[in-house]
Formats: sequence, structure tokens, C-alpha cells
Amino acid sequence: MTLNRRSFLGGSLAAATCPGAVPGAAEPNRNLRADVCVVGGGPAGFVAAIAAARHGAKTTLVESFGFPGGMATAGLVGPISKFNFGGKRVVDGIPWEFVERLAARGGAITDLPKGNVPFEAEVYRRVAREMLEEAGVTCLWQTSVCGAPELAKDGSIRAVTLSTAGFLSRLEANLFIDCSASGALVGYHGFGDFRSARGAAQPLSLCFHLGGVDTAKARVLVRHDNERSANPVLRAALETAMKSGRIKSFGGPWAVWGSTIRPGFVSVNATRAAADVTDPVEIAEATALMRREIPEIVEVMRGADPAFREAYVAQTAAASGFRECRELKALHRVTAAEFVSGERPADTIALAAHPMDRHLAGSSGQNLSFLKKPGAIPLSALISAKCPNLLAAGGLVAAEPTAFASIRVQAQCMATGQAAGTTAALSARAGCAPKDLDASAVVACLRVRPQNARGQ
Ligand SMILES: Cc1cc2nc3c(=O)[nH]c(=O)nc-3n(C[C@H](O)[C@H](O)[C@H](O)COP(=O)(O)OP(=O)(O)OC[C@H]3O[C@@H](n4cnc5c(N)ncnc54)[C@H](O)[C@@H]3O)c2cc1C
Repeated sequence: MTLNRRSFLGGSLAAATCPGAVPGAAEPNRNLRADVCVVGGGPAGFVAAIAAARHGAKTTLVESFGFPGGMATAGLVGPISKFNFGGKRVVDGIPWEFVERLAARGGAITDLPKGNVPFEAEVYRRVAREMLEEAGVTCLWQTSVCGAPELAKDGSIRAVTLSTAGFLSRLEANLFIDCSASGALVGYHGFGDFRSARGAAQPLSLCFHLGGVDTAKARVLVRHDNERSANPVLRAALETAMKSGRIKSFGGPWAVWGSTIRPGFVSVNATRAAADVTDPVEIAEATALMRREIPEIVEVMRGADPAFREAYVAQTAAASGFRECRELKALHRVTAAEFVSGERPADTIALAAHPMDRHLAGSSGQNLSFLKKPGAIPLSALISAKCPNLLAAGGLVAAEPTAFASIRVQAQCMATGQAAGTTAALSARAGCAPKDLDASAVVACLRVRPQNARGQ
């Protein structure tokens, strides 16, 4: 569909002078307006917003937490995987610029051969926020997009309802990018679908950090042994505790120096609980189980490895993490076969390097399959097939579960964020729908690191 600038912008501009009603509210608290609205400020969303703003779009980022980083900072997951394949960098651009700035602030280790980047969550928040501010992004923290987006006659999204501490506002935009991982936009109007059949989705995990670990003696640290991130002694002890019924939520296999970089601290990704992500009661029960069992898991670790004898829980994640939820109904869904083939379609906007790593619900195992060549992620997997002004990135990219099990990690989510933000900004400038944009123009933009207007 080709839209001239007037008709493409027409719906939302008309609405700007005649605010629509927010369902259930007398009138919205504020009426806001942007060229590009990014929902979710995780690895995909904060990079998408920076990219859109650097390409000249008036960009608003809406994020439920009070800081950027999503699962990286609220969920304490790490390291940032994976920038390298076969020792060569496959993700550059804004994601690698972010990592360099993180390292310059003493918040990351960047020289691991596989391109995994351990980091300090607090520094991550700060650097991401600084980059958003420098790019001129309007960040609406502690604000959630709620309910079904309001549609224009042509089926495009005209506006979304925002909730800040229960007060409702309304935000109109020309382009919307769903980076919420759960599908704050993709979940409505048939724009998306569940990635896996109910009950077959990967399980939830709740990560935590331990202090008081003798990291000089701890047997396995990602820093020194990037082949084996599992600690076999801890894993055996936790499996024994599972078999005896002492704990129920061990999903291993990690106790690694993955997301922390300071001596004495390790990040632990060891809990696992299956839940239907559409069911608040199941999520609450799974999260409660994992929270309840963390002290017991730590007791097992203290008894199993002398390096952990003095370990204590320094911090637990603010939220448990869903490894998969919805996905966009896109122009193209990446199949497992094309992904592992290593072929690169002309609209390839990012390369994946992480193994296809599917965690199994109901056991501590995982299906892990290593790539022989980097997997290609095409732009068409980010563009909605149903809604003319909707894109998605990160956890919502259209891909079969096996391919997604590689794409789902942070470096690739950031790279898809940059592609989605760039596409949205170019579409807004050209006054056309993303699917009518010349994909080669987007690919060409991604080869150059976009700068802020101030040259930063
Ligand atoms: C347990 C676990 C372990 C993992 N381990 C690793 C690892 O070791 N290395 C790695 O690289 N990756 C890991 N991952 C994957 C990593 O978390 C994802 O790659 C990454 O977080 C996805 O980024 P995202 O931006 O798509 O989503 P998220 O990080 O989930 O961010 C989504 C953001 O959207 C916000 N949001 C959601 N709904 C709304 C709404 N309605 N309104 C406003 N904001 C909203 C959320 O608050 C959140 O900040 C792990 C994931 C899990 C669950």
C-alpha cells in the first residue's frame, strides 16, 4: 500500500485537534503527540528510540519501570549475549556504541572472545538513560500503555492510552514500535499471536545476585571459562536437592559471573517455573515459588562449594522473566530452516550468533543447538502484515520458536531495535508505511552509526 504523506498522517493529525475518548475515563489527563512512539524501554526499545530520534523523528518512549534496560536491569539477566560469531563482531551500530560507553564508565567487560558482555545493571541504566537524553527522546517512565490501541479508519494505530499511577493520558503518533516483549500493542486487533502453543512456552526464571562469594576461588566464571558457564558442583548439589524434594524450582544450570563484574558477586540464573503467561494467578504462583526457594537454593550452594560458604542474597530481580510470549504477525516469519542455512536475504538487518537455546518447562534441561553460520534477521520480520504503521522488535520479532531461541538474546534484540527505530523514522520522514519503504535504504543507514544532532 502506498500512502501519500497527507493521507498517512491525516488520521492522527485530525485526532490531535479532536481528542478521542479514553475508555472508562471522563477525559484524558494529557494529550501527547509524537512522530514515533516506542512501547517498552528494554534492550530493544531504548535502542529503537535512540535510533528513531537520531534520524530526526520526534520520539516518545513509554516504559513501565522507572528506568531503561528491561530484563537486563529489572530482571538481572546477563551477560549481554552475543556480539561475536567465530571471533568476529556481527552486531555493531548503536548496540556496540552502548557497550563501549558502558565499559568507559567501568560498567562492562568487553573483551570476551564470544562477544558476551558482563555488566553492572546500575551503570547500564545510567548509560542508556544518558544516550536517550542526548538523542532528545521524551521518556515517559513509570507509565504503561494499557488497553487496545485506538485505530484509524485505514486500520493504522491512531493513539494509545497511557496509565501513570492510575491516571490516564493519550498519546498519538505516526508510527508505533512495540518493544514490550509481551505485546502491549501486538496483543490486540489480531496484530500478533502466541509464539508457542499454550503450555509449550519456555518457563519463567527469577534471577538474583549473590554477594560474599570468593570469586577468586569460584570454579567457573564466564570471564575465564566461556565454554562452560555451568558450575558442575553446584548443579549436582541442586539436582540432588530437587530429587529429594528440598527445592522444586531449580532450572539451572548457572551460577556464573555473568551479569556482575565486581569481585565477590555472581549472578545466578537457577530458578525455573512453568506458567501460562496469560494467567495472572499462575504467574503469581510461579514467581512466589521461585522467591520462596531462593534462600534454600543459596543454602544448598553454601554447603556445596567452599567459594560460596559466605554467600548472601545481595539482590533479587524486580520481576520474573518470560523467555517467550507473543510475536508480531509480520510480512515474514523467520523459519528455523532458513535461519540455520545462514543465507542472508537482501533485507537482512541483523545477524544472530547465540545458539538456539530453548529451556524446557518441567526439567532443568535445555535444547541447545549451535549455529554453523550466523542466522539472518530480515526487516520483513519486524513489519506488521496487519497494521500499516506498526513495527516490533526484540522479543516480538516474527520467528519460529527454534529460530527465536537464538534471536531472543540482548545484542540481537538491540540490533532489531535499531532497525525498527530507523525504519520508523524514515517512514515518518517519507510519509509512507514501513512496508512501502525501500529496505535497502534502511540497510544502508544501519551500516553507519547514526549521530545525535550535536554529533554525539
Ligand atoms: C530468565 C532469562 C534469562 C535470560 N538470560 C539472558 C542472557 O544471559 N543473555 C542475554 O543476552 N539475554 C538473556 N535473556 C533474554 C533477554 O532478557 C532478552 O533478550 C531481552 O531482555 C529482550 O529485550 P526486549 O527489549 O525485547 O524485552 P524486555 O527486556 O522484556 O523489555 C521490555 C520492556 O517493556 C516494558 N513494558 C512491557 N509492557 C509495557 C507496557 N504495556 N507499557 C510500557 N512498557 C511496557 C517492560 O517494563 C520492559 O522494560 C534472558 C531472558 C530471561 C527471561
